[in-house]
This record gives sequence, C-alpha cells and structure tokens, in this order.
Amino acid sequence: ANIVSDVICPFCGTLCDDLEVELSDDGKKILEVYHACAIGAEKILHSQAEDRITRPRMMQEDGTTKEISYEEAAKYTAKILCYAKKPLMYGWSSTSCEAQSVGHSIAEAVGGIVDNTATVCHGSSLIAVQDVGIPSCTLGEAMNRADRVVFWGCNPAHAHPRHMSRYSVYPRGFFTGKGSKSRKVFVIDPRKTDTASLADVHLQIEQGRDYELLSALRVAFRGEKLPDVVAGIPKDQIYEAADLLKSGRFVIIYFGMGVTQSLGKNHNIDIAIAVTRDLNDYTKAAIMPMRGHYNVTGSGEVLGWQYGFPFCVDLSRGIARYNPGETSSNDLLMRDEVDAVFVLGSDPGAHFPFSSVKKISQLPSVAIDPHLTPTTAVCKLHVPVAFVGVEVGGCCYRMDNVPIESRKVVDPPEGMLTDQEFLELVLAEVRKCKGV
Ligand code: SF4
Repeated sequence: ANIVSDVICPFCGTLCDDLEVELSDDGKKILEVYHACAIGAEKILHSQAEDRITRPRMMQEDGTTKEISYEEAAKYTAKILCYAKKPLMYGWSSTSCEAQSVGHSIAEAVGGIVDNTATVCHGSSLIAVQDVGIPSCTLGEAMNRADRVVFWGCNPAHAHPRHMSRYSVYPRGFFTGKGSKSRKVFVIDPRKTDTASLADVHLQIEQGRDYELLSALRVAFRGEKLPDVVAGIPKDQIYEAADLLKSGRFVIIYFGMGVTQSLGKNHNIDIAIAVTRDLNDYTKAAIMPMRGHYNVTGSGEVLGWQYGFPFCVDLSRGIARYNPGETSSNDLLMRDEVDAVFVLGSDPGAHFPFSSVKKISQLPSVAIDPHLTPTTAVCKLHVPVAFVGVEVGGCCYRMDNVPIESRKVVDPPEGMLTDQEFLELVLAEVRKCKGV
C-alpha cells in the first residue's frame, strides 16, 4: 500500500502527529485516513470533494458569482486594502506561520488591523497571561506525569476528540503507567457533557460562577472556612475536591471557552492561574488553555515575535498598538471603524454576532479559504486555496506552544495556489500600489 506516515492533522489544537494516509498507486488520490478522529479524517478527505471550488469567484451585482483568475483576485484584494483607511485583516488560525508572516507584511504596508480567532475564544486567557504569567508545561509532560487532570469549562470529548486518548486521560505515561487508572479526572461544567460522564469528580457549577468556585478552592486548600454552598456546590464537595487535588503528584488544569467567555472573562483565568500557583505549595501543578483552531497558537506566536502582542494588533498608525475592546474585530465592526475586511483561515460568518456579519457583507471584502463557508457566502470575493497540512506543509503550533512541521500529502488541484503563494501575489500588488 502507498502509505504516508507521521501526517499532522490540520484541524484542532491537539495537532495529532501520528496520522497515516493511504494514497492511490499514482499518489494522487487519498483513499483512507488512519488514526484520526472523525473530524480530522473528514477534514483531510474533504480536500478530495468532487464539488470543491478551485478558482476564485467574485460576487456580481445580482448575487451570482463569476470565476476570475488568481491574478485578478490578487489585484482586487490589494485594491480594497490599499484604498481602505483602516482595513481589518482577520483570521490566521487555520494556516501556516509562513503564510501568517506574509500576511503581516501586507498589513504593515496598508496600515491594517491584524486579529485572530483568539478575539472570540482565548483572548481573555492571553490577557490574563500578560497580567500574571502562566505556570504551564507541554502535553508530553502532562501525559507522563499528571495524575490529577482537571477539565474546566471544556468538553474535549467533542471539541478535541483524541486529546483524552493521546495526552490527558487514557495513555500510559512514564509515571502514569496504568493509564486512566493512574489518574483522577475532574470536570467543572454546568452541563453533564460526555467528558463529565467519564469524570471521577463532576462539579456541576452554576453557570457564570467560575470565579467564586476558583476562589473557594483557594480557601479550601488552606483549610479555612467556606459558606455552606458556593456556585451551587456544597462545601463538603469543594473540600473533598481540594484535598484530592493536593494529594496528587502532578495536577494539570485544562480550560476552555466555558470559563474564558463566561462572566468574569480574563479575571477567571487570573484566578485559575492563582489556583495553579497555590497548588504548587503542596504538589506540582500546571495549567493550559485548550486552543481550538490548529494554528491559532502559531498566529499568537508570530504576532508576538513581530509586534509584541498576540492578537488585536492595530498597525494603522505605523506602529503596533494593542487594546482589546478597542482594536478587537467585533468592536471595530460594531463601531463602523473599518472600511474593508480580509478574512483568511477562519469563519467569522459562523462565529461572529449577526450584526458583525451584516457589516462584513456591506463592506469591500475577501475570504481566503479552501472551503465554502458562511463567510465566503457574504464576502465579495472568495479565493479558494490549497489545504495546509494536506496539499502544502508549513509550521504550526500545538496548544502547548510546541511547533510542529505539517506535511504535504498530495498535490493541490492543478493551477491552485497555496494561501502563502496568493498572499505573495497580493503583497507584490500592494507594494506597486503603495510604491514601497
Ligand atoms: Fe485532528 Fe484534533 Fe482529531 Fe487530533 S483530535 S485527529 S488534531 S481533530
């Protein structure tokens, strides 16, 4: 069989690196994907979809679309970015670091705002980390050492399907040789999720009361007095959970959007980090955000190296400014502060509030994405590109900030550009237009 091994899955932040892909004898067609979860396998197989769009399409006045060349698409994209006073360049989480870097050169030349999907998910975690730092570790360390595993406001059974089998709950690690029997799993979630059904301890917290429960844990660690019930949890359960955490050899706290986007936002993460620090008085503890898109972490890294800030970077004044709430995509769209929208490697049409999506649909706009999405349906121009991690390689960062080089498995359809190649065309046009 014609098998490509050690393929990286370009879907979620777990960035599984053990996939095998079976190809036809001529190496052109993907026949089967092994070891991936259903979502990851589907993403890779989707690159072979019969109805895949392979050329840019421009929306016409009457709502129909017309096929145009990549050169024409690059000219249109450069024009809307150059003529805008403040273009928003959003997304970047489902592409390689190399493409992100070319995109940032365009943003610098046109004075744009570069923002990624953290703006609607783990942006509050990044703000907390800037405030108080973060005691973290790699997924490998957690797999080998952690005997107390906490999932706070996240549901990996659905959102990161192989996280539990590869890193957090089931694998046998160096100091966790009995797999799941070596670990106690805690889930803090208002819902009885599929992850909660596997937990040893499920604290069914009242919605939006994370800050209170995290504070109560800090009190319980010190053996001090708690009210009878905190955040819907009786105090005995809180003392019991605190003791069980303290008695572990290594505690890892994974947290998701249930805590980053609920009442308290970055303050929830501040105190979750304080809980982790407190636990280090009794045992070893670390904390890690469950990042969603496969390279949202990489986008934060590349923005961080280049401008010092991981999202919401405003380059419109010729220097990098950062002020989430002011320079974040939804706030800019709500206040009518941007006059062109460029989207790459994400789907605000599916994830932003309706009012923001409506604004995008009214502005000069382009969406660069291999798929047809709600965003491509509202943007004036859709530029389909090759799938990163399937048809072109590139550097991606896993949720624990470990960079992993993704692999090319098959060629893209003939004549199709990668997003990096298309961005280079746009950059050349922008330079001509700006005379730089
Ligand atoms: Fe891909 Fe995530 Fe599934 Fe791993 S868990 S195979 S990275 S979608």
